Amino acid sequence: MLICGCGRWMHTQGVDEREEAGRGPIWLVRSECLACGLSIGFEAPPEEAAVLVDRLMWTDDARHLLERMPPYVEPLVRREVEEYARSKGQRVITCAVLTQARHGGMVAWDPEAERRLENVPAPVRAMARLELERTAAERGQSRVTVALMEEVKARYFGFAGRQ
Ligand SMILES: [Zn+2]
Repeated sequence: MLICGCGRWMHTQGVDEREEAGRGPIWLVRSECLACGLSIGFEAPPEEAAVLVDRLMWTDDARHLLERMPPYVEPLVRREVEEYARSKGQRVITCAVLTQARHGGMVAWDPEAERRLENVPAPVRAMARLELERTAAERGQSRVTVALMEEVKARYFGFAGRQ
């Protein structure tokens, strides 16, 4: 958190992300003191800049992507993505977070299902994970459960039996 020279907290006004060749992403965090009007900018790699962000923020680019969505979709996407970011402990929604949240990242795993996945042989584990997340997403389920695993497994065995 930043404290202004006048003694008040400074509040985050915006985060802008840009790529710097060879260094990866750089964030410009803009903060303002609402009491005296002082505003400052701070530029750093995400892991350093994130500590200066005092609430959930969308980067300028991610917000533009959101604003280009149809009006009836936008509030739903906003809520989904913000929930996703909170669940990951992320305060800044970048274009990458937006993409993750919308494609695959929305499906959570029940702890027991996650544990069972560990028992799946490594060569097929990644495919099993994808298949389970895809099936859950198609049905509008937000979680992969043990019941779903059993069902998908039965389907796989079914295929195997017919071959
Ligand atoms: Zn101030």
